[in-house]
Amino acid sequence: MNVFVVNCGSSSLKYQLINSDTEEVIAKGLCERIGIDGRLTHKPTGKEQVVKEVAMPDHKSAVSYVLEELTDPTAGVIKDLSEIDAVGHRIVHGGEKFAQSVVITDDVMKAIEECNDLAPLHNPANLIGISACKALMPEVPMVAVFDTAFHQTMPKKAYLYGLPYEYYEDYKIRKYGFHGTSHSFVSKRLLQIIGKENGDSKVIICHLGNGSSITAVQNGKSVDTSMGFTPLDGLIMGTRSGSIDPAVVQYIAGKKDYTIDEVLNVLNKQSGVEGISGVSSDFRDLDAASMEGNERATVALDMFAYRAAQYIGSYVAAMNGVDAIAFTAGIGENNFKVRKAICDYLGYLGITIDEQANAVRGEEIRLSTEDSKVAVYVIPTNEELAIARETVALVG
Ligand code: ADP
Repeated sequence: MNVFVVNCGSSSLKYQLINSDTEEVIAKGLCERIGIDGRLTHKPTGKEQVVKEVAMPDHKSAVSYVLEELTDPTAGVIKDLSEIDAVGHRIVHGGEKFAQSVVITDDVMKAIEECNDLAPLHNPANLIGISACKALMPEVPMVAVFDTAFHQTMPKKAYLYGLPYEYYEDYKIRKYGFHGTSHSFVSKRLLQIIGKENGDSKVIICHLGNGSSITAVQNGKSVDTSMGFTPLDGLIMGTRSGSIDPAVVQYIAGKKDYTIDEVLNVLNKQSGVEGISGVSSDFRDLDAASMEGNERATVALDMFAYRAAQYIGSYVAAMNGVDAIAFTAGIGENNFKVRKAICDYLGYLGITIDEQANAVRGEEIRLSTEDSKVAVYVIPTNEELAIARETVALVG
C-alpha cells in the first residue's frame, strides 16, 4: 500500500509517500511560503531533487503541485493518483476527544475544528490540509493521527493543574502533552528491544529536538509528560523557555510595556537556549561557541541537561523505578555531549555510559554499559513512518 503522509502548517506542507509493505520512502518534500509566493522542494528516491518557485495562493494549490510532481513522467514516482491508497494527516491537537488515530469523516473534521481553540495556529492549518487532499482525492481514505492522543492515558493527578476545578470543566485547561506520535513509536521500539512488550515495564523517552519533551511510559502507556496545555511547558528548548514561574509574565509585561501576547511571543520564540546564550537555538552552534569559551553558551547547555535530568528523576519517582531510557530526535540522536551531560546526573540510578558507544550518531545504539542498572538507548524517531503505520492499521 502507498500512504501519502501530510503534515500541514500555516504556510507550509511537508509530505512523504511511503510504501507501507517495505516501509520505504518513495518520495518526500516540502512546500513553503504558501499564501505568500510558493516554493516546492521534491525529493523522489533515486532521482534528482526538484526545486520550483511556483505560485501557491492556498494549500489546495500546494497539494495539487505535489500530486503533479508525484505523477510527473520524469520526476514522478507513480503513474497516476490511483497508486495513492490512503492519506495520513498529522493533527496537532485532539483535545480530550481523540485518544487514538481515526478515519476522517465529516464528524471527525467537526470534532477537530472544536479543538481549534486549543491549538489556534496549528489545527486550522491541519484542517485546511485535509480539505485540500479531499478535494483532489475524494475517494481515497484518510486518517487523522494526533500529537496529543498518546498522552490521553495520563491519570488525572498528572494532567490537572492546581487551578480552580471549573477551569478544567469549563475551558478544558489541563496538561495535554505533545510529540505523542514520536513517544509512542520510540517507546514501542524500546519495549521490543528490552523484551518487555507485554510485561510490566517502566521506561522514559527523551524527545530532544528544537522542541523537546520527556515522557514517562508505564506498561506501554503515557503516564506523564513534560509539555503541558501547550508545547511551551517543561524543558528548556531551542527558543522556548519551558516551565517558568507564571508571575514572570506579568512582571515582563510591566517592565517592557508588552501585551500578554507579546510576552508569550518572547517565551516561545526568543527564549530557551537561544535567549540564554545569545548565540543560536541550534546545539551545533552552541557546542562550537562553548568550545571557544562562550560562557553563556556553556550555561545554556548546562541548563538544558540539568532540566532534562530533573524531569527524568521526577518520572523515576512517579513510576517508582525505570527499566530503560531512550533518547531520540535531532539532539537526542546526534548530540553525544548532551546525552552524556544528562546521564552524568543519573549515577544514583546505577547508570553507566560506554563513551565509545555513545560517540555514534543517528543510529539505534545501546549507550549504557553491560553492568549499567538501567539500559540507555538511542532510538531514531520516525514520525512519518509512525503515521503511515497508524493509517494502514485503520484502512489497510
Ligand atoms: P525539530 O523539533 O524542528 O524537528 P530536530 O529534531 O531536527 O528539531 O532537532 C534540531 C536540533 O537537533 C538542533 O539543535 C541540531 O543541533 C540538532 N541536530 C539535528 N541534526 C543533527 C546532526 N546531524 N548532527 C548534530 N546535531 C543535529
